[in-house]
Amino acid sequence: MKCAGQIETRAVEESSINLDPIQAAGRLTPEAMKAVIAWGDGYSVCDNCHKPFRLDYVTKPPIADFHTEAAAWLGMDKIQLVPGARRAFQEVTGALVGKGEPVIMTGMGHYTAYLSVEVVNGVVREIKPTPDHHITADATAESIENAIREFGYAPKLVFVDAVDFMYGNMHEVEKIAKVAHQYDIPVLYNGVYTVGVLPVDGKKLGVDFVVGSGHKSMAAPAPSGILATTDEYADIVLRTTKIQGDITGRKFGIKQVGILGCSLMGDPAVGLIASFPRVKERVNHFDEELKNHKIVTDALLSIEGTKVASEYPRKHTLTRMDTAESFDIVAQTHKKRGFFLSSALNKRGITGIMPGVTKQWKFNTYGLTTAQAEYLADSFIEIAEENNMVVG
Ligand SMILES: *Cc1c(COP(=O)(O)O)cnc(C)c1O
Repeated sequence: MKCAGQIETRAVEESSINLDPIQAAGRLTPEAMKAVIAWGDGYSVCDNCHKPFRLDYVTKPPIADFHTEAAAWLGMDKIQLVPGARRAFQEVTGALVGKGEPVIMTGMGHYTAYLSVEVVNGVVREIKPTPDHHITADATAESIENAIREFGYAPKLVFVDAVDFMYGNMHEVEKIAKVAHQYDIPVLYNGVYTVGVLPVDGKKLGVDFVVGSGHKSMAAPAPSGILATTDEYADIVLRTTKIQGDITGRKFGIKQVGILGCSLMGDPAVGLIASFPRVKERVNHFDEELKNHKIVTDALLSIEGTKVASEYPRKHTLTRMDTAESFDIVAQTHKKRGFFLSSALNKRGITGIMPGVTKQWKFNTYGLTTAQAEYLADSFIEIAEENNMVVG
């Protein structure tokens, strides 16, 4: 079925159980779906934009209220809508990091975090992960000390992932923030796998920035996200324009410089807001998500040789499996090679695991029902049995 010209209608979420780690929590709510159809036209949110002509002042649709509510919800003072977490990183580095200046980043950071330092010509100094793939406050202190010795002054910013994308492990943000603040370094909490998924309180964590991704974890269309900050850093990072035309004398009111005025228009903004009531509610039920996740990991672990490469017991629904001693052994002699696993899953209506990979692979069960989790668990066991693996 085509939706236009040669463009296929996408039906992945309707036809399959989708385990793609980056897609699970971004899948739209029915409310967002409806909003997306109604607000798809270009600058639709500008219908009722009046003085002072800024997105976060628009009351129809209720974008202004959303800003107030979302800031309170994250335990922060101010938020700004941004086109993706990466643009929030960029806005923060743009305001705080100069040429050649060091930024501390975890060795498990996302490429966009590194690039957000590169785009301002900054320098990255990493925090070494522990052998069990955790970022600790001690290792952070060591990395900061090293940078001070190297540069002669404290790094400008510390990036920390609440839950990293490689293992889905949870890191000691509160302690890391304490350490960074002993050196007066601001801390950016990367919540792309937490904001919209589990409760996040920036004040309690003691961080200066909370970044969330709408399309990754808030059931919102892309590109969307949130940059939340404190009053202290709002004055710097969310600063308003002061520029003036030299011939015309033109000025631009209170437009925010870091995001070049207004950030999200149309679908990304309204879709994010439409999902927000449900997102606010769902973060209180993350324990149920973990219960469903455990149904699947228990089944996988019952297949001989199978290990969880992530921390265990699991604290997040994004998990890296190690099946080098199980599915990968089958792959060595199977006529489909490594593709046997994804192919067997696809046959059962399961998608989202990287095709051809059988050593280590990631999946995310976020948003699945218990019945779907049980179906998944049975499917993995069936596939193992079909291939004469030992299950017990
Ligand atoms: C996906 C991801 C990002 C980028 O998020 P966008 O909203 O797409 O910009 C940043 N950091 C981590 C750890 C991620 O997994």
